[in-house]
Amino acid sequence: MSAASCRHWIGTDANGHVCGAPVEALNLCVKHYELAKAKMRREIDSRQERHDRVEAAWRERNARKAPAWRAQLEQAEREYARRTQSVVADRAAVGGAMHPSIVRAQRSVLADSNVARVVELERIIGRLKGDLARLKGGAS
Ligand SMILES: [Zn+2]
Repeated sequence: MSAASCRHWIGTDANGHVCGAPVEALNLCVKHYELAKAKMRREIDSRQERHDRVEAAWRERNARKAPAWRAQLEQAEREYARRTQSVVADRAAVGGAMHPSIVRAQRSVLADSNVARVVELERIIGRLKGDLARLKGGAS
């Protein structure tokens, strides 16, 4: 059974043979399983290093933007709160009854243009928070 013996190829394509030793894991013997694990570990490490370098370069390029991003985030969150809070607050205040002024307020909150802006703000806030978290990534 091929599953019971190590599939690792030893030698060249033209002149070689499978290891054939008893299988430890992943159809490999103890020795070739350890080699495969070490190789995978090196690949993961080098990929991680590459990722770290890219992140470090990104942080270096963007560190100076952090104050502007924080200001933008604050502004976006304020606008988001203003555009979304009246419906919630008014509903809580009147317990379902609909005063005409509330109906008007809800209409404006639920107007397409406002909803579109709220969706846009959610995207902006998400991106800014993501970027600011990415900048902090270097500290950990
Ligand atoms: Zn082997």
